[in-house]
Amino acid sequence: MPKDNLGNEIIQDELLPELEIRISLKAKYAQLKVLYDGRVELVIPKDYNRKRIPQFISENQAWLSKTYATYQQHKQENPERFANKPNFIDLQACNEYWTVEYKQATKSKMIESSNLFRQLRVEYSDENKIQEQLKRWLQKKAKSLLLPWFDEISKKINIDYNSVSIRGQKTRWGSCSSEANISLNRSLVFLPSSLTVYVFIHELCHTRHLNHSKSYWALVKKFDSNYKVHEKRLNEISTSIPIWVI
Ligand SMILES: [Zn+2]
Repeated sequence: MPKDNLGNEIIQDELLPELEIRISLKAKYAQLKVLYDGRVELVIPKDYNRKRIPQFISENQAWLSKTYATYQQHKQENPERFANKPNFIDLQACNEYWTVEYKQATKSKMIESSNLFRQLRVEYSDENKIQEQLKRWLQKKAKSLLLPWFDEISKKINIDYNSVSIRGQKTRWGSCSSEANISLNRSLVFLPSSLTVYVFIHELCHTRHLNHSKSYWALVKKFDSNYKVHEKRLNEISTSIPIWVI
C-alpha cells in the first residue's frame, strides 16, 4: 500500500506512487501536484494542521488518480520528451536542430558535427552520467546564445541591468533581484524566439518594478504589445520541455 513520506497509509489508489509532503513558506493552502518526473507531491503551508491531511487526500483522490493517469498517458505518447537518451535536441530559439547518437567509450566526450545537418555524438564512459553530459553541453550552448542576445535586447529597449547568468532552475524562466541581477533559465533555448525575447523583456522590466503591479505591466506593454498572449503561451509550453533538461 502506498504511503506518504511520514509513513501514513493514506492513499488508497495502488497505482499511485508514494506521496511526498513538502512544507512551503509561500503556499497559502494545501495543494496536490503530479510532478514532471511522475512524483506525487502534497504542498502544505507552514501552519497547516497535519491532522487534516488524510481527509484532504481522500477529498481529492479522484482528481489525483485522474491527473496521474493523464500524466502516464502523456508519457507514453511523448517518449522523446521523457527519454534519458534523446534522439534529437530541438533548440528552437536559435533554429538549431541536433540529432543525437550515443557511443560507449573510455572517455566521456561530446562531438559536434554540422556538415549536412547538425549532429551531436555523445561518447560516454558511464551510462548514468549521460544526462549530466547533455546538461553541460546545453549550459554552454545556452550561455553562448542567450547572453549576447539578452544584452542586445537590453540595449534596444534601453533598460540596463547589473549582471546576467544562465542557470538550470526547475520552475522559473527567469528572475531578477533588487540589485538588478538577472538569471535566465537555460531552457529558454527550447522556446520559439518570440517567447525567449518576451522573457528577456519581462525580467528587464523587473529592474524598474520588482512586482507585477499595473505600472509594471504598463512598462512591459511598451516593449511587447502581445505580452498577455506570450505570458499564457509560456505557461503552456513548460509542459513540452524535455525532462532530461530539468
Ligand atoms: Zn515576473
